[in-house]
This record gives sequence, C-alpha cells and structure tokens, in this order.
Amino acid sequence: MPARTSHTAAQALRIGGITPLTTIDFPGRLAAVVFCQGCPWRCGYCHNAGLLDAAAPAPHRWSEVEQLLHTRRGLLDGVVFSGGEPTLQAALPDALARVRALGFATGLHTAGMYPERLQALLPLLDWVGLDIKGPLAHYDAITRTPGSGDRAWESLRCVQASGVNYECRTTWHAGLFDTAALRALAEDLAAQGVRQWVLQECSTPASVPWCRTAPPHAVAAAHQPAVRLISRPRPRRRTPAALRRRTPPAFSHPCR
Ligand code: SF4
Repeated sequence: MPARTSHTAAQALRIGGITPLTTIDFPGRLAAVVFCQGCPWRCGYCHNAGLLDAAAPAPHRWSEVEQLLHTRRGLLDGVVFSGGEPTLQAALPDALARVRALGFATGLHTAGMYPERLQALLPLLDWVGLDIKGPLAHYDAITRTPGSGDRAWESLRCVQASGVNYECRTTWHAGLFDTAALRALAEDLAAQGVRQWVLQECSTPASVPWCRTAPPHAVAAAHQPAVRLISRPRPRRRTPAALRRRTPPAFSHPCR
C-alpha cells in the first residue's frame, strides 16, 4: 500500500541520505538510517563533509522515509537519525514522533552540541549514541569549535538523567590525543557512570602505529575495567556522492 504522508513538520527535515537497512547503527535492532544534513562543527576526521552544509539542497524527502517504513513493517525494528548533526534541525521532533506513530523504535546519533534540544528530544527516543570526542582539554581542537566539550558532557548528563538507553562513542587516533589522555578519558567516563563505550579507530595515517601495537580495547580494558568497551569493525564508507546515486549500503558516520 502506498504511504500516505500528510503535511507535517517532518517534511522540512533536510535529508542527505537514507540507508534502508543496518545491523550495526542501532544496537540490537534492524534499522534504517536517516542522514540529516548540517553540522556546525568541523572535526578534522569527518568523513561526511557533504553533509555539513545545512543549506545544501537535500536529495531526499521525508515522504521517502515514510514510504520505506510502510514497506518494511515487520522487517525493520527502528529508525536511527544520524548526520551531520540531527539535533540541528527543528523538524527532528516531529520526524521522531512520526516514526514512533508508525510503530518503529527511534534512535539518535548526536555529538551532543545542543544539550537543551537533546533534553527535549529524549522522551521521543529509545536509544542515543552520543559522541564523546575526547577529554575536555582536547575537545575544541578536535571539533574546531570553542566550548564544544562542555556541551557534549552536559548532553551526557542529560541522557543519563533521562534513563534512555545510550552508549558513548569515541573516535581516536594518536594525532588527536595520546594514550595517557585516552586512559584518562576512560576513567572520566567510568566515573560519570558510563558502562557502554564504543572506541573506534580513526582511519588516518596517524592511526597506523596504534593499530599495529595494540587495539584500543586492550588499553581501555586494562586501565578501566569498569567501562565495558565494544570494539567494532570499521563500517564501510560511502561518499555523499555515492549516497546520492543511492548505492546501497549508504555510508556510515565515522564517530557514530
Ligand atoms: S564528525 Fe560529526 S560532529 Fe564532527 S563535523 Fe562531522 S558530522 Fe559534525
């Protein structure tokens, strides 16, 4: 049956890409991924440069998402909103509500740059993947944005207070901060009560020595057993251009 999409605020969502099925971006669920356009930060390792410009023409419409969900009832468990930075967009709350109304779980990948908006979104979310990009002292250099670390850590406190399921995610290579700082980050996260931490290798030349000498989970596990760390294989990368050609599967976020 064709999807019937009434006029909703969700139609204003600027969508840079849609992945019809993922098994790794929404833990424990089969999900579709909606890549939202726009991000005000400029992390040096960002693989989705094509999504950063919030004003770029959107190649997908919200009606495509609802059409997909109508055809995947019983096959998909949920939808995860990624980016870019989804919380940048005012249409996100309605999009989440629409997804839930259609009977699907909702997930969010966020860098936590808008803790107030995230706070308001939490009742609409079943799971959050929150980037914690590094220790506070290194944050602004990673994001190239002043004050970014305080915002992310405030978002972590908001998510924890809400009771919504979540995990923290860190993309690391030796050029960002050293292993002592990585260990300190593990300790800080554990002290904050984080029990689910995904540490991803960043695919840059600077990461090569680290990959050869020890996997990230070895360092974190050795120095902070209170933090349960999952080491995931790097997802396949797709450029926004490939995404627009609808070459499945779509790209995945490097830090989410
Ligand atoms: S890595 Fe994430 S937070 Fe950083 S610039 Fe890219 S989309 Fe924005």
